[in-house]
Amino acid sequence: MVEIHESEEEIRQHEEELKNNFDMNKFSLKNKVAIITGGNTGLGQGYAIAMAKAGANIFIPTFNELEWDNTRSIIESVGQKVEFMKCDLTVKGEPHKVIEEALNKMGHIDILVNNAGMIKRNPLLESKDEDWDKVIAINLSAVYHMSLEACKVFAKQKSGRIINIGSMLSYQGGKFIPSYTASKHGVAGLTKSFASEMGAYNVTVNAIAPGYIKTENTAPIRAQKDRNDEILGRIPMGHWAEPYELMGPAVFLASDAAAYVNGAILPVDGGYLVR
Ligand code: NDP
Repeated sequence: MVEIHESEEEIRQHEEELKNNFDMNKFSLKNKVAIITGGNTGLGQGYAIAMAKAGANIFIPTFNELEWDNTRSIIESVGQKVEFMKCDLTVKGEPHKVIEEALNKMGHIDILVNNAGMIKRNPLLESKDEDWDKVIAINLSAVYHMSLEACKVFAKQKSGRIINIGSMLSYQGGKFIPSYTASKHGVAGLTKSFASEMGAYNVTVNAIAPGYIKTENTAPIRAQKDRNDEILGRIPMGHWAEPYELMGPAVFLASDAAAYVNGAILPVDGGYLVR
């Protein structure tokens, strides 16, 4: 029911309430712990650094030991703690171990970013079954298992944030990447279904859908002049995103300022989807 403020006094009280219930500290992640899968490299490293700069301590499950020292020195330089764990999130039981290890090393957990992922490109008629299995295992099944394990903890503590990483391929078909497209559509579905149940526990589940970002993974597309021009022509902002342009949206969704944002899939795409 919409509240109607009739008297001057009621209007004044309502304005006071608005003023007192919001302060900029709601954007802070101070005293929070964020698990960021694949947070050692690429876009994941950006989320890790952003959340550390916002005050969170960081736990990073990762497949290799690539860039650990580099990521550690950046996060420590902004005054936050970081721990790493070598694991394969596609192996049964590993997501459970990751959550246990994060609790042991960090004391508590507040935020999970399901960032780890891969892409395999091949014309459809040359698709390999093993590529399908690998991509679905890390991009979709691992997101489900990590989220479920985190939700068991979040439900008990009646707080938590999950941020999944989708893609423009959460909306579109794309060519040469059926496994990736299916996995990222699946990530959108998981986001909505987890959000539907976990809201009751004060846990929000959202996704970021990055647009065209300048990373090593997109270098092959940028190298094709026609494809690059076609993409640029469709981005109202007129440029590929730099990885740091995803940092603000990630911190926002993880913060108390986004407490009522649940089940959203936030495109960070310079307007690509609306053209
Ligand atoms: P990267 O390839 O740079 O990083 C992927 C990360 O996932 C790595 O840290 C890798 O660990 C980790 N990882 C992969 N497999 C496993 C596994 N089995 N167990 C544990 N960790 C694993 O990817 P990007 O930074 O480019 O992409 C990150 C996310 O963003 C992905 O989900 C991707 O789909 C999405 N995305 C990317 C876009 C882009 O433009 N790049 C656009 C839209 C979405 P390690 O390094 O140790 O091997």
